[in-house]
Amino acid sequence: MPSNLCNVPPKAQNGKTTYKQLASRKSQHQHLEPTISGLRNAIPSDYFQHSYFLSFYYLSIDLLLVPLSGYLLWYLLACIPTTLGNVPYYTLHTILVALYWFYQGLNFTALWVLAHECGHGGFTNNKYINDSLGFVIHSALGCPYFSWQISHAHHHKRTNHISDGESWVPNILDKKSKLPSSSLFAGLVRVVVVWLLGWYIYLMTNITGAKKNLGGSHFWPNQKLYTSEQTIKVLVSTLGVGTMVLTAIYMSCLVGVQTVCVYFVLPLWVCNSYLVSITFFTTYPCRCSTF
Ligand SMILES: [Zn+2]
Repeated sequence: MPSNLCNVPPKAQNGKTTYKQLASRKSQHQHLEPTISGLRNAIPSDYFQHSYFLSFYYLSIDLLLVPLSGYLLWYLLACIPTTLGNVPYYTLHTILVALYWFYQGLNFTALWVLAHECGHGGFTNNKYINDSLGFVIHSALGCPYFSWQISHAHHHKRTNHISDGESWVPNILDKKSKLPSSSLFAGLVRVVVVWLLGWYIYLMTNITGAKKNLGGSHFWPNQKLYTSEQTIKVLVSTLGVGTMVLTAIYMSCLVGVQTVCVYFVLPLWVCNSYLVSITFFTTYPCRCSTF
């Protein structure tokens, strides 16, 4: 296996690497390319053993930390004095809430990742337990479980593949394409938009998927992302997220919009920005080895 899979092929003398040269390099190194069975054989068999105890132990911790963190914020906001030295109440309030968003966002991310493992069949060796838990957790976090499970499996199968990939597929520059502006301001705007809205824009339009699948929504059965046999799964996923949204609206009527936003919506938004960052940075480093 090459020592560094991310090595960029050396450029030809005119500065460009042709497809012919790439194809030739690929055929030279074909015998060195890893296979799925080769990788599986290289991993100790212990790592393929599932433990119900460990899986549910970690799930319980994460499930416990969510309400505990919320309670701690509520308790501290009720206890803090109107001033602490020269620091006014408003400043203390803002710091506490910001810390809560940061931490609760991590708790939500931990749960989100456990549901991701359910989607891969890695949580237990029982498919029904995995899918039931994954569906409930992902729905509560605004993710259409089965729809995303299907497209995500495709992402792993064709990571960074330009025409067949799914999520964070590298851009293709053709004659009509424009390079994005390289100014600092434009870069910052892009980062903020991707952090704040990237996850939902992707789910609704498949914007970072392969160009041919642009416009395919994870919330509606469509030929771009799903087969007709997967229609029920997509609709059930949308129903799950819809139930979460209706529950949040109902809770807003009971305890107030502001409370639901502070304790649930904003930490969820932070969680989504963590997810966008995680998927970007775990996909990005190997791009150059794949195309
Ligand atoms: Zn995955």
